[in-house]
Amino acid sequence: MLIKDRLLTPGPTPIPEEVSSIATQPLIHHRSPEFSTVFMKVVEGLKYIFQTDQDVFVLLSSGTGAMEQALVNILSPGDKIITINAGKFGARWGQIGSSFGVEVKDIVLNWGENYTKEQLADELEENPDTSAVFATLNETSTGTIYDIKGYADIISQTNAVLVVDGISGVGAMPCPMDEWNIDVLIAASQKFFMTPPGLAYISFSPKAWSLVEKSGLPKYYFDAKKAKASMGKKTTPFTPGISLLMQQQKALELIIKKGLNELYTHHRILGDSVRAGVKAAGLEFLSKNPGNILTAVKIPPGIDGNKFVKTMQQKYHVYVSGAQEPHKGKFFRIAHLGYVDGFDILTVLCAMEMAFSDLGYNIKSGTSVAAAQNILKENWQ
Ligand code: PMP
Repeated sequence: MLIKDRLLTPGPTPIPEEVSSIATQPLIHHRSPEFSTVFMKVVEGLKYIFQTDQDVFVLLSSGTGAMEQALVNILSPGDKIITINAGKFGARWGQIGSSFGVEVKDIVLNWGENYTKEQLADELEENPDTSAVFATLNETSTGTIYDIKGYADIISQTNAVLVVDGISGVGAMPCPMDEWNIDVLIAASQKFFMTPPGLAYISFSPKAWSLVEKSGLPKYYFDAKKAKASMGKKTTPFTPGISLLMQQQKALELIIKKGLNELYTHHRILGDSVRAGVKAAGLEFLSKNPGNILTAVKIPPGIDGNKFVKTMQQKYHVYVSGAQEPHKGKFFRIAHLGYVDGFDILTVLCAMEMAFSDLGYNIKSGTSVAAAQNILKENWQ
């Protein structure tokens, strides 16, 4: 049988052909007016998605590079930080901080658990010498959304800054950097942005930039001051990912044509339809506050979760993601992020029913698909 590969993973996400075909175009040189035109169009598009008047810098790295850039540019040796750690990516903030020798107050939560702004306010009251709080918009390991606006309301009243890993959330859900008073916001090309992995995006508020001016942690490639100086010359400090930027420019054109509000709604409809399908199938969610980027679903008792993901990928070619350590095999994740449409949702739910049936767990054929179809039909636009 001929089968198509389908990516329902939270990165990389699928890419429109109009975008991927640009990778085969002849290269342009990065110290040329042609490159500057592409680069500045990308920067303008990113400012629109970040909803900021500040510069958005482009790194030739995956998202973790932007996490490192955020941390090393605003801190100095001896600084104390709070990291909200409710999953694999929240944990990474603390790991980066420890690698650079800052004092980390790691707030370790159960995976999928919420963390309220009131809890953060208490924590800050106990630790008034905190320089920065590091949070995650959408914790991709669990599909949980965190109250970034609430955190920002509290932190903006203090001397501390709020750094937000928006890698998987920015663009797919509202996170207006300036309006919410976010001090550092980061994202990456392989998520909402419909572009292959390899580019990371970062922006600093004026409050965060005042820390950049005096930050004492070691850095070279990720020095934000170098990026700012080059931005003034409409270029990057080092060789940029030229083809990736050309692809990102095309993807941004498509995104801007649709408009952010419509894309937020699109992701909400996809999220609603997946949740309706999962619920109708009698399966449970992992997250206490699931968002519209991905849905983490618990594997029913007695079923081997690793085998389920393997069956989805290798037999049906539908790429969902498993759970990461230490929860491997206990849940799986369906992403509905980026260039994914309603029919992709019906396909993934259909494959889910078939794969569970292969492993001896029977969901009445079409139950989850019908529930999702209803949501899609009601909301079709
Ligand atoms: N943070 C979040 C929320 C993510 O989703 C990811 C990627 N899955 C990362 C950080 C790490 O990004 P990368 O793998 O691009 O370095």
